[in-house]
Amino acid sequence: MTETDYYWIVLCKNHGFHRRQNLFSPHKIALGETDAYACPPYLGGHFKVKCDDCGEEHSYKPQDVLRFEIAPPESFIAHPLFSDLPLSQEKRPA
Ligand SMILES: [Zn+2]
Repeated sequence: MTETDYYWIVLCKNHGFHRRQNLFSPHKIALGETDAYACPPYLGGHFKVKCDDCGEEHSYKPQDVLRFEIAPPESFIAHPLFSDLPLSQEKRPA
């Protein structure tokens, strides 16, 4: 059984590269940890994300950000815009 967590993600736009690895789902780039209820951070416009897999950098809209339950990436570094996000009550340490 794999433990999963909620992450804010964007889908890599380098579809050609990732299609060779996984035909059915685009590569998800984890941006920051979240939970089932937290609101996305205020981004204020386009922002750039470098793919942790193919290494290409693309520009994303705030609307491209999705909440996804995934297995935590092995070497995860939160995107600067998504680090230190407040989580909802449930996950906050007592
Ligand atoms: Zn990629």
